[in-house]
Amino acid sequence: MAHNLVIFGPPGAGKGTQSAAIKEKLAVFHLSTGDMLREAIKNETETGKLAKQYTESGKLVPDEVVIKIVEEAVSPLPADKGVLFDGFPRTLDQAKALDAMMDKLGRGINGCISVAVPDEAIVSRLTGRRMCPACNLIYHITGKPPKTEGKCDVCGGDLIIRKDDNEEVIRQRLDAYHAQTAPVIGYYKDKGLLKEVDGTRPPAEVSQEIIGMF
Ligand code: ADP
Ligand code: ZN
Repeated sequence: MAHNLVIFGPPGAGKGTQSAAIKEKLAVFHLSTGDMLREAIKNETETGKLAKQYTESGKLVPDEVVIKIVEEAVSPLPADKGVLFDGFPRTLDQAKALDAMMDKLGRGINGCISVAVPDEAIVSRLTGRRMCPACNLIYHITGKPPKTEGKCDVCGGDLIIRKDDNEEVIRQRLDAYHAQTAPVIGYYKDKGLLKEVDGTRPPAEVSQEIIGMF
């Protein structure tokens, strides 16, 4: 059966890094609402214009906006290949909407991987994060430096610092996580779908543990 999975965790837990590994090993589609929203903002679409004010201040984009972009992204995908949802659902209403849309598509969520990282570790992870806007690859100035400073290993393009990776906005994102997103863990736990991993270990170890679960 196709793996339809949710990867869950606080900002900076390593969801993006782990998603790349899961996508490769389990041959699933990877849908990241953060990547989709950044793309919409870059292209100045209606959704992008609306989302910009929220993402830049570390607040969640309204549910109906995010639910719509996810539904548009997942609907055309062939059901025999799985999907990994990254950064979605982030509220209980999004979790319920995801179940409803998957149901309609004849799919179901088979697992939720929760990557746990304590708040103290998050600020330093995110302030040192660098990103390739072309490949959506993630680096860290000390943890995973690129071979050439400031350049992507894969495409050679300039790495950027995400606008929301500054300390004040990071605190706001953590607050949003605790208030709105953490309750989603209980939703999947109650359904018996929750699998927790310790996200403070080296990324390759975390990936190995996740892949071994499926
Ligand atoms: P991180 O998990 O590191 O905070 P993401 O790239 O997943 O980063 O998301 C960046 C921002 O995009 C969030 O702070 C939020 O404003 C917005 N966003 C992403 N996914 C959602 C979602 N499911 N619901 C609401 N807002 C979202
Ligand atoms: Zn690149």
